[in-house]
Amino acid sequence: MSTPTETKSTCPYCGVGCGVIIESTGAQITGVRGDPDHPANFGRLCTKGSTLHHTATAAVTLQTRLLYPMQRLQRDQAPQRVSWNHALGMATRKFAQVIQEHGPDAVGFYISGQLLTEDYYVFNKLAKGLIGTNNVDTNSRLCMSSAVAGYKSTLGADAPPTCYDDVNHTQCIFIVGSNTAWAHPILFRRIEDAKKANPAMKIIYADPRRTDTAEIADLHLAIQPGTDVMLFNGMLHIMLWEGWTNAAYIAAHTNDFDALKATVRDCTPELVAQICGISKEALHQAAQWFATSKATLSLYCMGLNQSSSGTAKNGALINLHLATAQIGKPGAGPFSLTGQPNAMGGREVGGMANLLSGHRDLANPAHRAEVAALWGVADVPATPGKTAIEMFQAAADGEIKALWIACTNPAQSMPDQATVRRALQRAELVIVQEAFATTATCAYADLLLPATTWGEKTGTVTNSERRISRVRPAVAAPGETRHDWSIAVEFAQQLEAELGRPARLFDYPTPESVWNEHRESTRGRDLDITGLSYAMLDVAPQQWPLREGDAVGKARLYEDGLFPTKDGKAQFANTVYKPVAEPREARYPFSLSTGRLRDQWHGMSRTGTVGRLFGHVAEPSVQMHPQDMARRLLKEGDLVHVTSKRGSIVVPLQASTEVGMSQAFIAMHWGEEFLSGVSANGERLAGVNALTTPTFCPTSKQPELKHAAVKILKAELP
Ligand code: SF4
Repeated sequence: MSTPTETKSTCPYCGVGCGVIIESTGAQITGVRGDPDHPANFGRLCTKGSTLHHTATAAVTLQTRLLYPMQRLQRDQAPQRVSWNHALGMATRKFAQVIQEHGPDAVGFYISGQLLTEDYYVFNKLAKGLIGTNNVDTNSRLCMSSAVAGYKSTLGADAPPTCYDDVNHTQCIFIVGSNTAWAHPILFRRIEDAKKANPAMKIIYADPRRTDTAEIADLHLAIQPGTDVMLFNGMLHIMLWEGWTNAAYIAAHTNDFDALKATVRDCTPELVAQICGISKEALHQAAQWFATSKATLSLYCMGLNQSSSGTAKNGALINLHLATAQIGKPGAGPFSLTGQPNAMGGREVGGMANLLSGHRDLANPAHRAEVAALWGVADVPATPGKTAIEMFQAAADGEIKALWIACTNPAQSMPDQATVRRALQRAELVIVQEAFATTATCAYADLLLPATTWGEKTGTVTNSERRISRVRPAVAAPGETRHDWSIAVEFAQQLEAELGRPARLFDYPTPESVWNEHRESTRGRDLDITGLSYAMLDVAPQQWPLREGDAVGKARLYEDGLFPTKDGKAQFANTVYKPVAEPREARYPFSLSTGRLRDQWHGMSRTGTVGRLFGHVAEPSVQMHPQDMARRLLKEGDLVHVTSKRGSIVVPLQASTEVGMSQAFIAMHWGEEFLSGVSANGERLAGVNALTTPTFCPTSKQPELKHAAVKILKAELP
């Protein structure tokens, strides 16, 4: 047998961004193992990462992959294979027609944190630079936009100031709204190692659920859903009362502490204990450990971000770090964990409706002018683009007529499925650019464009700690699949011709040429990577910033106490507590939360092909506290209707003390083949997002996927 070829790449699942070594023989990926040289994982992989090669076998490819362009002539008919020329020609003509008849804002692009940075860059430029619409948003809106808004409004830039190595330098880890053990498993292994090496280190865990992550905690604050801001304000109240804040740091490096002090004055331990559902003693203990530890590191994720108060939650936590000077030193700082492999890269290129390349803001006229000059276009339109929820609402209302969806599955993953599916039905043209033919969204496509995926693509991704890694191909693209960036480039070039524009904006022979333009767009910005070439990344992954002439990137930010704001000072957020958008009430008495399982990923288009990944959790269920079950005469395994104001699903019941009383949990992964449901109007739906609310944070526009009021009733027997 011949020796397999080895190719270094990056895991395509979570934001830990582990390095992998792909083994391949000919056209077949035969194995995968952790890259011992990669600084995110040092050779380790979790169950998902270590089974990646099973998702890329010839049999799986034949059964799940979209291998040829397909067109659906009638919405109720099966799609037919067409040529790339035909597919892109049709896409170009229809987009041009919609733009000419209804204006550029009648089209929208919904892209993905699974795309590589180069893919993201081209889509963003295509929408904002060529077409002249800011209607380009991403599933990262459902994932990280509250973290972006939280960092920018306090520290002045969307830049996590910390790194994974900080778990080895901290004395206190505050994990909030993150089941790190399941959602970021290799980072959790590093936390376990750090705790073993330093048993005096304290771990505080704040989360309504008693997940596996709680098992490592010295203190679990099982707060009521959505009460995080009250918890953080209450901790600050105690820190002020006890004299645990750092007056010198506050005076030298921050603004507007007095307004926040006035707000938290009312957040007494009695009130916080009552609203959050925890004891005053536990609250006091958490405040003490956080403030008086030599270094405190906060790790947080969807529990803060997926909220109608997402920006306030992020701001209130960052307030604690600023008030106690737990930032800008090894082992200290607020560290938001990214859910997806390249949510960070998408933010860097400005691949969201309110952002521009190089962490610039669409709302800033100078930033728009800088990007227009870089791209060589007259201007970037000032009209705000539609964010994820707004984009699908606009399509459902008939305002957006052509939708291009790349590498994501909104027919399963977006909240309020009934509206999303209405949008997909009403749009005149739905283009789905995908690697997998099995997603629910494919069923709504007029045109299916087959894309390459992990093991076949080349480019870069950025993980949670600002570290950029190369993604490399181990095997040739199967069938007629094409790379995401090149599909967007070819479409853009054809659209330039169709719209009568000079053909000049998309002269990219390789992804490296896209990367080099992106690098240039960051010159002088907080994330400046002008010094970071592909050649340098081929030696080792690097953190940003890495300016021209730098040998390595920066592990930690703000060590000099200077923040990227006008006066160099950080800004306290005046965070006022607001309850969840849809509180539970007599008719809908349960707080439903959604989240990840350890061994599945998103809509399971990849992990669902690996039998052993069902060994951990084999089927969907709704978790309910045993006392709630007893009170309702329900038992384990009963089929129940879980119903919100938007829809209903039928699912088996599971007794669990992971959830508190009057709370319920359903994993987000299960799609149509596992979890059927109906909308309030009787339309067929599937998955937990038949129930979730589209209500979003007014600042970050991130929807409240972590809370919906539901009722849970035993299903009738047939
Ligand atoms: Fe992949 Fe995340 Fe697991 Fe690492 S921790 S192997 S990046 S899924």
